[in-house]
Amino acid sequence: MQKKLFATEEKIREIKSVYPTPFHLYDEAGIRRTARDVKEAFSWNAGFREYFAVKACPNPFILKILKEEGCGVDCASMAELKMAAALGFRGDEIMFSSNETPGEEYEYARELDAIINLDDITHIDFLARHGGIPERICMRYNPGGQLLIGTAIMGQPDVSKFGMTRQQIFSAAERLKQMGAKRFGLHALLASNAADNNYYPANAMILFELAIELKQKLGLDIFLINLSGGVGIPYLPEQVMPDIRAIGKSIHDNFNDIMFPEGLGGICIATELGRFMTGPHGCLVTTAIHKKHIYKEYIGLDACAVDLMRPAIYNAYHHISVVGKEDALCDHVYDVVGSLCENNDKFAEDRALPQINDGDIVVIHDTGAHGYSMGYNYNGRLKSAEILLHEDGSFSMIRRAETVKDYFATFDFCDILDGAAD
Ligand SMILES: *Cc1c(COP(=O)(O)O)cnc(C)c1O
Repeated sequence: MQKKLFATEEKIREIKSVYPTPFHLYDEAGIRRTARDVKEAFSWNAGFREYFAVKACPNPFILKILKEEGCGVDCASMAELKMAAALGFRGDEIMFSSNETPGEEYEYARELDAIINLDDITHIDFLARHGGIPERICMRYNPGGQLLIGTAIMGQPDVSKFGMTRQQIFSAAERLKQMGAKRFGLHALLASNAADNNYYPANAMILFELAIELKQKLGLDIFLINLSGGVGIPYLPEQVMPDIRAIGKSIHDNFNDIMFPEGLGGICIATELGRFMTGPHGCLVTTAIHKKHIYKEYIGLDACAVDLMRPAIYNAYHHISVVGKEDALCDHVYDVVGSLCENNDKFAEDRALPQINDGDIVVIHDTGAHGYSMGYNYNGRLKSAEILLHEDGSFSMIRRAETVKDYFATFDFCDILDGAAD
């Protein structure tokens, strides 16, 4: 089955003639389109905001595009907070959904007046010592058990390290109130890459019911329901994109049914989508540089798991296109591999593809989220550049490729590698 690339063969060749492979290529038009679709799907909620999960694609040029589309950011570390601050995100535009948080990060998040999303009850006193308890605060809920949709297991909160138990949410709310918090948000992330349109509404329902109970039992003033991320994308060619309009409508129906009658119709809905926002709008453009025939057929690329870890760590499927051979017969079976001295450095195993020759451009789809950002530097392999394809067809580099000098930069406190990168 085929999966279409967002850029034409001609465009990819043009970009490659300016910027050497490998690079991640992002589609500005697609990112803007999805941001507008999400906004539209929740337009029934006056206070709605998408807080883009920065970890999915932490590039300031991409964040700037999303900011222009009215998105906020969901940060989880000092570096993400600083990037957000540098781009002018402030206050209600920043969600700080961290866990195992260092004190200085809470302090900085408080300085920015970010919405703190508290992962654990023990963080209350910690936060009081590091930045202080704010007037508005969000709490992360873990309902335990399994999240079932019909008979399918969507998520396993019982083995997830995130969030507070039901009992703890109630205790935390009371304690936070005593310490000066006045307005509360509720957050839960119970699944990842959920293909099912029912995931997000199910997550919303759990939070709606909790909000109602907290209001009734504790008189809590709830201003925010944060549905977090987890909406999936079709990595496989036979999968379909979750229908964000239908998802938004289903949540709206539940909201009308149960929140309005409880006087909670004014609550703001937030999302922290990452994968859904940018995942399909990025791809990894590589060149086939070696061909190896032993017990299996191998195609060696100039990219490796440093550029995209998902296949290595999750055994995740990423579709592969050979540029210019989209319509050719897939009559060869290859393992498409990178250069790491690790046998899991395989973008695909036993994949039926057209014949690949040295020099062919091989594109790995759907790397726009949790792609570049997960990379590391194993084997001294350097991370690739990032290129943005603009709406008018022009393109620009939005991150240069790493150099050996970057790799050695953490020895700059001494002279042991002075001059070695030159
Ligand atoms: C990772 C994460 C997200 C985004 O998840 P996606 O699967 O990319 O949608 C949102 N919120 C929090 C707190 C996260 O950790």
